[in-house]
Order: sequence, then structure tokens, then C-alpha cells
Amino acid sequence: MEDFFNEMSYQEILNRFDIDPSTASGFTESMVHDSIVGASHYFGLPIPMIFGAGDTTGVMSMDNTSPFDDVLMYNFSELHDLGINDKASLDLVMSHESIHRVLSATKHDYGVWENELACDFLTAMRAGREGINIDIFKDAIESTLGGSTHPSGNLRADFIQKAYELGQNQIENDFSVEKDLIAFQEHLDYRSVDIEVCKSTLLSLSNEMFADSHNISNFVNDKDWHIKEAQWHTERGEHSEANEHIRSAKMCSK
Ligand SMILES: [Zn+2]
Repeated sequence: MEDFFNEMSYQEILNRFDIDPSTASGFTESMVHDSIVGASHYFGLPIPMIFGAGDTTGVMSMDNTSPFDDVLMYNFSELHDLGINDKASLDLVMSHESIHRVLSATKHDYGVWENELACDFLTAMRAGREGINIDIFKDAIESTLGGSTHPSGNLRADFIQKAYELGQNQIENDFSVEKDLIAFQEHLDYRSVDIEVCKSTLLSLSNEMFADSHNISNFVNDKDWHIKEAQWHTERGEHSEANEHIRSAKMCSK
């Protein structure tokens, strides 16, 4: 998040739109539109300047102190493969992305993992308050392995469960980013040892640097997903599709 976009990488990001407008998930553009508008409204944000289908699910900004030039991309195939398959879970994915926008615009400077956990936490607090079912969203996230850009799925699921329970005990309109972040910080402190253990375990597995910066705040670590998709297409002789995924996987590692 602290890393910024130069014009070149911004153009690269824009080139990633419309690579995969697949609707295999059963989602329609208007459903996604509704989820994005609903989440933006809830968190007091303008609708993203640009949004549409692309090769990943994530959000980015030219000026990360302002929410007015944000770009939001979603990938139906990736969401479908994760198990995001109903409107409630789609609403929560878009909440997660919206909180990236909030944290950026309000200059909250968490570490890479903590930033993701904050987005999950505030999303689940919204779900608790508004009575949005979290089961599919939580299961989808719990199934992810994590890595340099995202904590392991079980850690994320723990933050989601805790925040959901807190949100359930609050009235619907009782929301402020600052108040929710205080609750988040308390749970972050409570889980600090688990987080450090998880980081060192994943680090030894992946041998990656946690200081890696990313210029797009993705929903999940999707480099692995693109590599898997590339292998699938290669096995079927679909080389241009495979190359698109390899190109995207390389971008994810930037
Ligand atoms: Zn994220």
C-alpha cells in the first residue's frame, strides 16, 4: 500500500481490464455493481472512478490519499474458484476492497498482513451489524494459504469470526472506522504471537520477503491462481490463454 503508482504501472493495471469477463460464477455485472455501490455507500466513499472485470480482484489508486481516483477490478473466475458464489459473499468481497480504499485515504499505515486483517475485520463487523451471512465468505478465505501479501486463511477466518460476533452485538447504524479499528487493534494485540508464528512458518515455506510491496491491494494472493490456470490451459493446448495467465502471474509478483 505504501508503494505508489507511476504512470507506467497505472497503465499496466488498466491494460488488465476485460481479460476475463467470464460469468461462470453466475454473477452479473449489475450484481457486482450493486455490491460495489452498497459497500461504497456504507463506508462513506465515492463510487470507484473506474471499475470492471479484469484479471484479478483488487483495488488501486493513483493518489492514495484520495478515494476519488480509485480503480476496482474483479475477476469472476477467481472468485468462483475461491467459492464466492452468492450475493452475500460478493457484498463482503466488495466490502473488503472498500476498506482498502478507506485505510488508504485515511492514511492508516499497517503492515501488509495487518492491512488485510483490518479489511477482513471491518468487513465482518459490517456483516454482523447488517445481518449479512458470512459463512461462504469466511470459508472461501479460510481455504487460502496466504503468503507474502496475505496472512494464512485460518488467521483471516479467526479475525472474521471475532469481528462478526462483535458486530452482531451492535446496532445497525453504529459505525465509525475509528471505533472499529480500535476493536481491530485489540484483537491484533491478542493474536500477536499467533501472527508472528504464522509469518515465520509461511516465510520458511515460501522464502519470500514480507517487505515485498504491491501496487494493487488484492483480495487474495492470486499469483498462484494464475499459475494454476496457465497450467490448466497449457495441458489443453490453449497457449494464448495460458500466456495471459503467465503474464498476469508475473504482474502479481511485482
Ligand atoms: Zn485485501
